[in-house]
Amino acid sequence: MTQAGSKIVMSGASPLYNTYARIPLNFERGEGVWLVTDNGERYLDFAAGIAVNALGHAHPHLVAALKEQADKLWHLSNLYQVAGQETLAERLVAHTFADRVFFNNSGAEALECAIKTARRYHYAKGNPEKIDIITFEGAFHGRTLATIAAGGQAKYMEGFGPKAPGFRQISAGDVEALKAAVNEETAALLIEPIQGEGGIRLIDKAYLQAMRAVCDEHDLLLIFDEVQSGVGRTGTFFAYEQTGVHPDIMAIAKGIGGGFPLGACLATEEAASGMVPGVHGTTFGGNPLAMAVGNAVLDVVLEDGFLTHVKDMALIFRQGLAELQDRYPDVIAEIRGEGLMLGIKASVPASELVAAMRDEHVLAVPAGDNVIRLLPPLIVSAEDVRNGLDHISKAAEKLHTAQISSQQTA
Ligand SMILES: *Cc1c(COP(=O)(O)O)cnc(C)c1O
Repeated sequence: MTQAGSKIVMSGASPLYNTYARIPLNFERGEGVWLVTDNGERYLDFAAGIAVNALGHAHPHLVAALKEQADKLWHLSNLYQVAGQETLAERLVAHTFADRVFFNNSGAEALECAIKTARRYHYAKGNPEKIDIITFEGAFHGRTLATIAAGGQAKYMEGFGPKAPGFRQISAGDVEALKAAVNEETAALLIEPIQGEGGIRLIDKAYLQAMRAVCDEHDLLLIFDEVQSGVGRTGTFFAYEQTGVHPDIMAIAKGIGGGFPLGACLATEEAASGMVPGVHGTTFGGNPLAMAVGNAVLDVVLEDGFLTHVKDMALIFRQGLAELQDRYPDVIAEIRGEGLMLGIKASVPASELVAAMRDEHVLAVPAGDNVIRLLPPLIVSAEDVRNGLDHISKAAEKLHTAQISSQQTA
């Protein structure tokens, strides 16, 4: 230990908060679907920064957009017009259910705005008591004090004081339980159409339709969290398009910035009616750099054929994974998901499969329910998918062999 001023500095220890068990890999640069370490080792990046690097790394169109904007203007306060915001919002509105957009910097902030929008809607209509948001078991909505309460998972709330009021979890799937949960204080229902960190769990379309009907009947707002499932990830611009149900409010982030911090809350004109001058704000949200990149992401994602490409790659991936499941049922229990938001439910501890895949230089993300998320950049090629499947197969083979030898010695 050395003295640095009045502080005691542990030599060798990281000055960072100790909140992540970080994997000791030093990535120095990225090229498309690849990440390259400082030793020049290449990893197939099927984690994509947890669905953030939707167009992979160093996509030339995004790099050019960021550099061009960097030479002009970095930051403006929301006290002034920000041209890129108007453009990006117009494009989001043109391609979704929404009429209004509020830009911010992250998924949790987009959810905070969604929650505030819902409560303010009822407040403006003379119903200030309607503040409760019904959410769902296994949900993940972020790490702010409100969004951990919305997610309702004890592991994220423990030690952070009382749970923020106005959030109640029920389990998805039971329509009668949903109807019974609604009361005079209910403001909105909030759900991920596909739970991401909860383990790539698809919510039944019939249940989503029942949620819409309950909202219409009781004048509640339906909020979708498409922070992970949005922006082409599932083969449509947003996952809700495949459900026949549209929300009133939607939180997005991750893929929309392609790696630049960017989130947004989308709403219908009516749902946003309580959000009047002065009631909400942000310093950095909708910053010109973020808008330049967000618009560049949409240039690519909304191009003819791009979403078809996502669906085509998803099909190849899905079929390959199903074959691996047939071959190694003692390692792979189930394949889940939609588009390029895929999950492998493992028969071994998911962390072992993630580590075995990493040994094979394929990156994936663990999730709840013993699931491994595969979230490749949407620009992934058929060759990349087959390459990835070969390496996932090798990882599964190793774990399969290890299982057999441990059974033989037992
Ligand atoms: C990642 C995520 C969030 C939180 O986003 P942050 O940018 O980390 O705040 C919220 N909801 C879902 C579904 C997510 O996947």
